[in-house]
Amino acid sequence: MNETVCSLLVIGAGPGGYVCAIRAGQLGLDTVIVERTRFGGTCLNVGCIPSKALIHAAEEFEKAVHWASGHGSLGISVCAPTLDLARTIAWKDHIVGRLNNGVASLLKRARVKSLHGRARFRDGKTVTVETETGVQLVRAQAIVIATGSEPAPLPDLPFGGPVISSTEALALTRLPGTLAVIGGGYIGLELGTAFAKLGSAVTVVEAESRILPLYDAELTRPVARRLKDIGVTVLTQARARGLSGKGNALVVETAGGEKRIPAEKVLVAVGRRPVTDGWGLEELDLDMAGPFLRIDEQCRTSMRGVYAIGDVTGEPMLAHRAMAQGAMVAEILAGNRRSWDVRAIPAVCFTDPEIVSVGLSPDEARAGGREIKIGLFPFSANGRAMTRLAEDGFVRVVARADNNLVLGTQAVGQGVSELSAAFGLAIEMGARLEDVAATIHAHDAGRGLSGSGPQGPRPRAARLA
Ligand code: FAD
Repeated sequence: MNETVCSLLVIGAGPGGYVCAIRAGQLGLDTVIVERTRFGGTCLNVGCIPSKALIHAAEEFEKAVHWASGHGSLGISVCAPTLDLARTIAWKDHIVGRLNNGVASLLKRARVKSLHGRARFRDGKTVTVETETGVQLVRAQAIVIATGSEPAPLPDLPFGGPVISSTEALALTRLPGTLAVIGGGYIGLELGTAFAKLGSAVTVVEAESRILPLYDAELTRPVARRLKDIGVTVLTQARARGLSGKGNALVVETAGGEKRIPAEKVLVAVGRRPVTDGWGLEELDLDMAGPFLRIDEQCRTSMRGVYAIGDVTGEPMLAHRAMAQGAMVAEILAGNRRSWDVRAIPAVCFTDPEIVSVGLSPDEARAGGREIKIGLFPFSANGRAMTRLAEDGFVRVVARADNNLVLGTQAVGQGVSELSAAFGLAIEMGARLEDVAATIHAHDAGRGLSGSGPQGPRPRAARLA
């Protein structure tokens, strides 16, 4: 058995793992990374990047269909478009491939040694890796677990045949005529919306009383309106029970009785579970927080020298959180003091319209009896939004009533994901309303907190509820 000795071993090359390894290599740590599939993890191969590619293609297709319908108000008309989904998927795969190569070259440039194969813990300092050429033993002073997550199955609807996860949905080369999406969270809605725009008849089945139950209701209303607009049926307080006898319909229990939803494909998007089983982790006897690895603020597990980052450590399961944790752990291992502000993690839904939220919602901010101010500006009063046919939505700022400290910022509307960094900056820097008001927002961008004219916003009492 070949043996490698290193300062740091990173298990998993998703956004958490590869950022950690690259930063550690740049900081001079002798680093090894092991990945069982392709560099980039869920995010690059079967998550963020492929879904955003499909969403973009679907938006473009929907626009073309709209202009072809002759109902558009801009005076534009085109011929009816056609879709070649196999080409769309090939285009997406090309982007993924370029980014895979990008990660590989960044790792190489940072002098990180890459091993391809499945890692298995022997003990808290030693891991075996089954590579194509044999088993490698890696001894490391520190180990970072970055094994991520995988789609959670439903017991009554195991994956296989027409029942697919987001991974298979993002590789379909033939458009399903009918698609049932189980789960009205962000993954189900992003993909459901894209397929509806491409031409599938989509039904979303959600167990809670509304879609996107993790976001406050006000933010989700424009999304619900738009789903209706594009013909998506949403069944709330509904539970999928299984496939019908012939397998071409989904049996759903609703308040109004049992329904059969025609479904050429059934996309199960009910959440993701951490990759913690079957590779020796269970024998380390690490402290768990439910199914996830328990970590402290600096991503230490309960075992000395073993760290964990990203989805394997729980919510929010987001690529940028995994990256921030990865970079921080690398700095700590290199002897630098580092921390980051969990409150400043943006959450973005690339639904239509998009939702962005950083910090506290009004209800969260009010918890504990705190007095707050809320500033809200609707896009229906914003000139730029009007010119983009994007009037449904708003920007909202939540601040402490006593000292104007910004506690949270949220928005729903076309393109608002681009506000996430500005929102995050305000929270991270401890901005006050005066700072936001003093920031000059370009008038024609119309994407800041302005929209009322060249003077921009003044969060005066008149605007604050
Ligand atoms: P992962 O990306 O899951 O990577 C873990 C890696 O570890 C994998 O490559 C895996 O093969 C490897 N691995 C596991 N076990 C072993 C082992 N024993 N040996 C070797 N290697 C192993 N997040 C966002 O922030 N924005 C988005 O827009 C977004 N969109 C998404 C859309 C979809 C459809 C999905 C499914 C997810 C989306 N996410 C998004 C979530 C994002 O993909 C994850 O939060 C992110 O990938 C987590 O990173 P990670 O490094 O923790 O794990």
